[in-house]
Amino acid sequence: MDKKILIIGNWKCNPVTLKEAKNLFGMISGRMTKNKDTEVVICPPFVYLSSLIDVSQDKVVFGAQDCFWEQKGAFTGEISPLELKNLGCQYVIVGHSERRKYLKETDEMINKEIKMVLKSRLKPILCLGEEARDTFNSDGKPLNEMSLIVAEQLEKALLGISASRIREMTIAYEPIWAIGTGSACSSDDAMKAGLFIRKTLAKIYDRTTAEKARIIYGGSVNSKNVNEYVKEARMDGVLVGGASLNASEFIRIIEKINN
Ligand code: PEP
Repeated sequence: MDKKILIIGNWKCNPVTLKEAKNLFGMISGRMTKNKDTEVVICPPFVYLSSLIDVSQDKVVFGAQDCFWEQKGAFTGEISPLELKNLGCQYVIVGHSERRKYLKETDEMINKEIKMVLKSRLKPILCLGEEARDTFNSDGKPLNEMSLIVAEQLEKALLGISASRIREMTIAYEPIWAIGTGSACSSDDAMKAGLFIRKTLAKIYDRTTAEKARIIYGGSVNSKNVNEYVKEARMDGVLVGGASLNASEFIRIIEKINN
């Protein structure tokens, strides 16, 4: 099956003006080259999506950083996945740890969001990961915190989602201790976490279905360590936060993967 390597830039709540957002986007799209084996997804704040989609060429695709679990109605302040689809988005990040922490998003809410994202013909990027740094036994089995939390988050997020939709899913292993800290996960541990997620998917569905999901890594990725995840740990891509706000660094990350 053709699985392009995903390179996702999550701008979070940055920058604070449209002018800066357009500049950043212009520097990235102007300098990057397209590669048939990779897909670059830019996830800016909602308020810039429309303007950036209007000026984009076909080098990147767009994702939102979150959405609501209904398509329309009396839900003041919410953004619907159908609105995002109609705007030209292709992906939606769901269950980012910052939303779980600050907005108190639960696994049940995340499950409803994923269902509505899929119903709206968008592709979910499900984020999950443990809070505290964990290690693996010598036989590669993860110790408690990582395995319990990741398995539970995965099972609850995918409740009621049929095997036929799994090819549209990206699962981002994002250990919370590695996000924005500069203390990235080792490639070995990322690989083991990826295999653990794949095994858990196989338990929920079956092995063939489990192979269809993309499993990527996120947490302090930069141009120096990116290939530890993509080439050494054989992850299906990376989710980049802080480093995606620096156009030169983000371009270097894309080039490292492409070359
Ligand atoms: C993220 O926002 O999901 C992320 C991984 O951030 P950072 O790359 O800054 O650690």
